[in-house]
Amino acid sequence: MERETLLTMLLMIFGGCALQVLASWPGALPAATDADALERAAWISVCLPALPMLLIAAWLAGWALTQPDPVRDRLDPLVVIALWVPFGLLFLRALLRAAWALVREPPECGVSTIGLMTPRVLFSPFLARQLDEPVLRAALAHERAHGRHRDPLRIWVAQLITDLQWPWPQARRRFDAWLEALEWARDDEARRNGTEGSDLAAAVLASVRFLRAPAQPEPALLVGTHVAHAGLLGDGQTLKRRVARLLAPPPRAARVERHRFCGVPARVVAWIPLLLGILLLGVLYGAPIMRPLLGLTA
Ligand SMILES: [Zn+2]
Repeated sequence: MERETLLTMLLMIFGGCALQVLASWPGALPAATDADALERAAWISVCLPALPMLLIAAWLAGWALTQPDPVRDRLDPLVVIALWVPFGLLFLRALLRAAWALVREPPECGVSTIGLMTPRVLFSPFLARQLDEPVLRAALAHERAHGRHRDPLRIWVAQLITDLQWPWPQARRRFDAWLEALEWARDDEARRNGTEGSDLAAAVLASVRFLRAPAQPEPALLVGTHVAHAGLLGDGQTLKRRVARLLAPPPRAARVERHRFCGVPARVVAWIPLLLGILLLGVLYGAPIMRPLLGLTA
């Protein structure tokens, strides 16, 4: 068997196990009034269950470096049937939905930000014609805030992590809570940049009126897939709360200094030495631990 094939199978088994165990975590959010703090906490609660999978990947990669290619060993058939097949199907489902989120036509909501690496704002001329100048500017300010934070990419990643924890409802609740906090944070950023809350509320309501349901029903496997774009509307279920928030005086946000290293957030960079350390441990101690653990047979 090719070494990379075995590595991928093991990552699905061990990573899938870790994700399923952590998926049941309720992930309670702090009762913060600062939308940026709430969004950061919600984002961490979405991503946290996937972090052990990164550590496992580093350990397995370290171990794989000490193995010949192709590997002489093969997985015990029982391990393949009992573990790899179910986790393989789970990963396949998540990857299909991730691909669908990229290629499906977004719901017609008038204004949205699309593009994973270079986000751009799409504004329907039919909606733009219906809006007054300040309301149109408010919608653009909200969408540009999505673009600055690469929210389409973050939504796509968050959905992939959530789908890997299927069928746990807690994972979906963490994703939905983050989407709501994300809209609040972008609203607040637009307001800090001079947008009136009432104009933004008017833009959100205009987007709701403009919303069209998709023409074709989705296959059952893909139902609920969140298209990889960030709209003005967000989640319609939370609309009332959001409009009330926009009509209230703007909350004073605590300015947080975000440290970056070559454009990458410092908290992401801090993981690199940890991952390298675990990769080294995999090189040094992987073989004697993995062989009995996997029931590898020659
Ligand atoms: Zn939005």
